[in-house]
Amino acid sequence: MASIFVVGGGAAGMVAAWRAALKGHRVTLLEANQRLGVKLRISGGGKCNITHDGSVKAVLASFSKEQARFLKPSFHCFTNADVLELLHREGVETYVRDNGRVFPLDRPGSAAAVVAAFEKVMQRAGVQVRTGVRVVGLQGRSPRIEALRLEDGTLLKADAFILATGGASYPETGTRGEVAGWLEKLGVATLPWRPALAPIPLKASHPTWEGIAFRNGTLRLLEGEGGRRISAFSDDIIFTKNGISGPAALELSGPTECARRQGRAWLSYDFSGKSEAEMDFELQHEQTQNPHLSAKNWLQRWVPERVTDTVWRAEVLADLRLKQLPKGIRSKLVGWVTAFPLGLPGVVPLERGEVAAGGVVLEAVDARTMRAHSWENLLLCGELLDVDGPVGGYNLQAAFSTGFVAGESA
Ligand SMILES: Cc1cc2nc3c(=O)[nH]c(=O)nc-3n(C[C@H](O)[C@H](O)[C@H](O)COP(=O)(O)OP(=O)(O)OC[C@H]3O[C@@H](n4cnc5c(N)ncnc54)[C@H](O)[C@@H]3O)c2cc1C
Repeated sequence: MASIFVVGGGAAGMVAAWRAALKGHRVTLLEANQRLGVKLRISGGGKCNITHDGSVKAVLASFSKEQARFLKPSFHCFTNADVLELLHREGVETYVRDNGRVFPLDRPGSAAAVVAAFEKVMQRAGVQVRTGVRVVGLQGRSPRIEALRLEDGTLLKADAFILATGGASYPETGTRGEVAGWLEKLGVATLPWRPALAPIPLKASHPTWEGIAFRNGTLRLLEGEGGRRISAFSDDIIFTKNGISGPAALELSGPTECARRQGRAWLSYDFSGKSEAEMDFELQHEQTQNPHLSAKNWLQRWVPERVTDTVWRAEVLADLRLKQLPKGIRSKLVGWVTAFPLGLPGVVPLERGEVAAGGVVLEAVDARTMRAHSWENLLLCGELLDVDGPVGGYNLQAAFSTGFVAGESA
């Protein structure tokens, strides 16, 4: 029987501790917060999108190629179906939404029920849980870690150490990302933390548009105004006080921040899915078919009214009819529908991302065991690794599966 410390009581750490204890090891889970699973409790807006429905292959396909290759062995060891089976056994009922996202049945505290299920299995397996304990360092000489250091200077020795300390976003939930710095010093390669799945601030924000949604179109990231397309995501955006949020904004936040740092980011929203030429042709046709239609009403077929009001005021367009459209205004109307300008993004905040990209580089870890290559008794799992999936339950599944393998291999 070995002694094992698991650091971090989130999705990955709880699963790792449970599995290691089931193997007969003496396991202690150390968590900085006063309670376990703080991020799990706020995930999915408190409803907790536990995982994604579908085959393992399909779930993996939503990650980048490199991440999918790394996650494949662990996703097969502890699948999305396995996660749900565990929760069902512990009395958490779940359902699948039309878009494949799996949630606990809507009840007050449904995310807390998921945490409680993991607490129960850990307790039965004999895991000792210590909350309110922040680890501040690791001590060891290659190839073995010898001890953890706590804030009060106490050294805790063990046979193996599992780090499941999460990323660096939402620092108020306990995840400050400092562990990456210790690992670098131990020779485990890491990448700087970067924001992902975060709202995007806009340089020219529209506070009065807060709450307005652009729907059923495509958010585009371009190399400057009118420039080459860098990336695009088809879904809704929602205006916030200082920028945009909503599914398309979250998905493009990572690439937007990368492009912004290189000084070449520009955002626009395509309502129509049509090229400028196609939309211009459509508008000219409408001019002959419907000459008395006001230009503003035509635009409102795509663009929400509160937004067209602002555009109209800014452009000093009176009650213009389609039959009177000067060519310049016609091309502006087409532009607003096919590439509504959102403009330059501001700094995408790392701390507001649903996940943090960056962290431990995947080549530094054995995908079949989660063991750090250069250390015999150091295992790494969850968001601490350079894994960031899209919205949809993928990130929790990655934490559960990598935590499972770390616990099994410790
Ligand atoms: C607002 C929000 C909504 C989200 N919604 C979803 C969703 O619906 N579905 C989904 O799949 N993903 C969602 N995510 C992402 C998902 O929650 C994370 O990817 C996942 O929780 C990561 O699990 P983890 O165990 O690796 O890290 P965490 O759950 O973050 O756990 C890490 C734990 O380690 C502790 N810790 C850190 N450093 C130390 C230390 N030095 N000493 C002791 N303890 C330490 C922290 O306090 C923390 O509790 C959401 C994230 C956020 C922020």
